Amino acid sequence: MTRYIEGFRKMDAASHFRTTLAEQGRQLAEQGRSIHLMEVCGSHTMAIARFGIRDFLPAAISLVSGPGCPVCVTDPGYIDAAITLAGQGKIIATFGDMLRVPGSRTSLAEARAAGGRVEVCYSPLTAIELARNHPETEVVFLAVGFETTIAPVVAMLDAVIRQAIDNVSLLTAFKRVPPALSALIADPEIQIDGLLCPAHVSAIIGADAYRPYAEQYGVACVVAGFEPLDILYGLQGLTQQLLENRPHVDNQYGRVVKAEGNRQAQRLMEHYLLPADASWRGLGTIPASGLVLRPEFARFDAVHRHGILPTPGRINPRCQCGEVLKGKIRPAQCPLFGVACHPDKPLGPCMVSSEGSCAADFKYARGGA
Ligand code: SF4
Repeated sequence: MTRYIEGFRKMDAASHFRTTLAEQGRQLAEQGRSIHLMEVCGSHTMAIARFGIRDFLPAAISLVSGPGCPVCVTDPGYIDAAITLAGQGKIIATFGDMLRVPGSRTSLAEARAAGGRVEVCYSPLTAIELARNHPETEVVFLAVGFETTIAPVVAMLDAVIRQAIDNVSLLTAFKRVPPALSALIADPEIQIDGLLCPAHVSAIIGADAYRPYAEQYGVACVVAGFEPLDILYGLQGLTQQLLENRPHVDNQYGRVVKAEGNRQAQRLMEHYLLPADASWRGLGTIPASGLVLRPEFARFDAVHRHGILPTPGRINPRCQCGEVLKGKIRPAQCPLFGVACHPDKPLGPCMVSSEGSCAADFKYARGGA
């Protein structure tokens, strides 16, 4: 019974948001305005597609996806480097999302089928287990991710060092969200009036990290959770800020996100990592947008340890992931969407990752399985 009552409550709330957003759309139209909102987080992207949240938005409010899928913004050259290491007999430990992402010529799944040792992990700590079970072999953990993932990977490295394990290394492609947002906001070809800020990343960096966007650039910011009502409330809040011409940071996910973030995680990250320029698929090289191991921990850096030099690699020239990641086009505007590129045969990472915009729209907007 409680479940049904809860369901009716949610329906009431959804219809409230539909009405409110429609009214906000009417006010915007009356002012001759249209606004452009961006959801930054891949999990938001998936939830927005899954629950049909774009259908709630009036014509004056457009919502595009941003670069919030870490796998999608990773260069194919990184996959190439991992495949090279697998070819040298290392055990490659990776989250499952990376397996089918195309490198310049092939993927890790194909490298595994050809005999490479590629192990899927559900937690970075699995790398330690693999290292203990295979003391004769080096385990290279594919350290790809934003602040949310960086913190547990660094905690794993901390455990490796404390336990004096010497057969684990990291192939890092860590990315920081704030510099990427700064680059997008500064791009004159991209209009962003409001940011639905990433929830999990915000739990680490804190809601205050977005204040410069509101205070210096006039971009409305809302930190929102992942439930459909959280997202609708967030979109309503962003629109209200813009209607009132009062952009600020509204932390609507206070049950998880603090203004200052997670200080303990921040301290651990600072201890092991340094900011560095990083290459983002579609966005190019963004200053100080990556994190690399400090020189004193270079022995755990697979690049340093094996003298490999990851390059950007070769992107399929027909794939428009770069434009999707910048919010310039919606996935269906890519001529390959659902035709030459689909989840069974992806041409770009946005169709592979469980947080990718193309995968989300294929699965839900097209009614695919
Ligand atoms: S549909 Fe495929 S080819 Fe087109 S942008 Fe998305 S991943 Fe790339």
